[in-house]
Amino acid sequence: MLQEKIILGQALINSPTDIFVIAFACMGMFLAGWWFARRHPSNDRAVNNSPQHNTTTENALLKEVNLLRDIVNQSPAIIYVKDTQLRYIFANAKFAEFFNLQPEGIYGTTDDKADCLDKSILADVETRLKEFEDDDRRVLAGEVIQEFSNPYEFNGKTRYFDTTKIPMRDEAGEIIGILNVAQDITEQKRLQDIQKYDHKLQDVVTNLATEFINLQADEFDTSVNHMLEKIGEFIGAGRTYIYHFSDDLDLASMVYEWVSSDTNTQIETQQNVSTQPFAITFEKFKRGEEEFIGNVLELPAHRQVEKDRLLERGIYARITLPLFRDGKLFGSMGFHATKPESDWADYSVDLLKIVAEIYINLMSRKDINQKITYQANLLENVSDAVISTDLNSIINTWNHGAENLYGYREEEVIGKNFSELLETKYINQSQNTVIQEFIANERWQGEIVRYDKHGTPLNVLASVSIIKDSAGNNIGAVSINHDISEQKRLEKQQTELTIQNERIQLLEDVISDLSHDIKTPLATIQTSLYLLSKASTSEKREHYLQRMRAHVKHLTRLVEDILTMTRLDKGKELEFTPVNLNILIENISNTYDDLLETKDNKLSFNLTPDLNPVLGNEAELSRVISNLIENAIHYTPSGKSIVVSTYSEDFHNIFEVQDFGIGIDEMDLPHIFKRFYRADKARDTSKGGTGLGLAIVKKLVELHNGTITVESFTNQGSKFIVKLPVSQV
Ligand code: ADP
Repeated sequence: MLQEKIILGQALINSPTDIFVIAFACMGMFLAGWWFARRHPSNDRAVNNSPQHNTTTENALLKEVNLLRDIVNQSPAIIYVKDTQLRYIFANAKFAEFFNLQPEGIYGTTDDKADCLDKSILADVETRLKEFEDDDRRVLAGEVIQEFSNPYEFNGKTRYFDTTKIPMRDEAGEIIGILNVAQDITEQKRLQDIQKYDHKLQDVVTNLATEFINLQADEFDTSVNHMLEKIGEFIGAGRTYIYHFSDDLDLASMVYEWVSSDTNTQIETQQNVSTQPFAITFEKFKRGEEEFIGNVLELPAHRQVEKDRLLERGIYARITLPLFRDGKLFGSMGFHATKPESDWADYSVDLLKIVAEIYINLMSRKDINQKITYQANLLENVSDAVISTDLNSIINTWNHGAENLYGYREEEVIGKNFSELLETKYINQSQNTVIQEFIANERWQGEIVRYDKHGTPLNVLASVSIIKDSAGNNIGAVSINHDISEQKRLEKQQTELTIQNERIQLLEDVISDLSHDIKTPLATIQTSLYLLSKASTSEKREHYLQRMRAHVKHLTRLVEDILTMTRLDKGKELEFTPVNLNILIENISNTYDDLLETKDNKLSFNLTPDLNPVLGNEAELSRVISNLIENAIHYTPSGKSIVVSTYSEDFHNIFEVQDFGIGIDEMDLPHIFKRFYRADKARDTSKGGTGLGLAIVKKLVELHNGTITVESFTNQGSKFIVKLPVSQV
């Protein structure tokens, strides 16, 4: 039982105040009850030494009381008991310790009378004593008075008490005294205040952090200023500031500053100031350490320069810490106390550290935001279409340029499949080749034709590149498309213009050639006509007539050739049917019999049977064959033979006319297909052709998608080779 009480007592000492108070109240009442029963005021020594009631029960009670009194004496609370006359009848050890007295000295006296009570330690003693007395009287009237965190000034220091005053009653319920338990909670309160401060600090930091998470890039300055204000106010600083340093750390400029209402601003004067006087601080900065100068006045002698500088600026205390970004010291952040009596706690540094971290994060975010904004602006402002897709060709970027070029708005295409949306044709390359090239090189550039929203084909120069993530994995592709339709149109216009100019040039040449080719026979005809009219004999007349016939024939041929050439130049499409070259050759083979006989030339044929037909125009191909055979006869002296051959090779029919005549000079060879070009300029036009034959032949062969080449050596002969593709039908 006793053991239990002691344990209970010890446990209660550590318990919350109200339980504590009740427990001591019980003990107090017990003591008081015992005391009244003894009718012996104010002498607890009697408890120890009383010889009167030396019965077993009383001894046991005394023993218990002594034990309980020990517990009360060990209590950290101030406990005392007063009787109805407000005289002290019991005070515990804590009371004695607190007021620096022997408890016995006070027993039997009241507060105002107790000489041993050093009242000077209590501020405003008269009022206090009056308050105590009033309280005591209320308790004697039956009231329980409980007060919490009651401040008392002792020796100039404030201490806080939770106090409980309880009326004490006898067995009949009569009030016989006052039990007062006062718990000194000053330390507890201090700890609570720190805790409260911690919570408030946490609130400030949380609020700042939350604010900065949702921050827009353009709010950066406002937010930093706001942050400096918040922490400055919180720790009661005069100034909160941020400096940025030059790369060589020689100069510092204040970039942000908050000042309290009674502190002057210094941001304007603190620009590009030398860091030289703060060399010691900078050494710490370089090591990543903060500096806490609690009192500038106490700076040691070797820091006199710094001290003067700080005091000049009205700074009495300073906490400053370095700002690092990517391992580089770039600035500092700190608090200035601008009043001499500032008293900053260690946690101010922690707060500064947290805010510095937020600031650095903010700077990185600002940079990133700036980059993003820059890129977004860039993307929006380029006139080229910029389109990005994921690996499945799903569009995720579509800029203004793309809208303008292809006619689709961004919201219409995001999330759609790029290749399905825009039909693309590759020029001179298959889609597969392009894809292979793109995969191999991770980029591809080339001209394409792409159809816009309205199906209009656009000439586009496309540059496609792979997009990779930071780990180097392919995550998509970006395509930049430049509209070259206009360029193409201009190019085409230019080409047409060049062709036109060539035509004009050609026409001029033709006209000048023609004037010669026409004038000469016409002049001859005119002369012949004149001579004819003067001719005296029929032989002579016949001679002039003959001459005129030849020239008229030549002129007719010339006009015919010019008309043919003009017709072909106009580019009117020829009608094609499958044509068997052998049959064409056979059909015209007899046409030259008379001429061959006159000239004593032999025309032989070496035709490969069963030739596949070519797709062509029969009449025009006949013209090609006739022309080459005629030329061969023309330019081959008597007695020589001419061979016409056909054979097939690589899906082509080859038609050759080989003569063993005068051949063509090496110098002339490259020009013989030009209009009006004649290898032998001196040759009489009446004997030679029009100079248009081979030009017409070449043009016709090309219109049949064929080629014509010539092999020739002077005085050995010439071989004209015509190659025509075989009809695929
Ligand atoms: P022409 O009507 O003068 O024959 P062509 O255009 O048919 O005009 O031929 C151009 C020139 O090519 C001729 O003037 C001639 O000098 C040369 N030429 C054409 N065919 C032969 C050939 N089989 N042998 C030698 N020269 C030839």
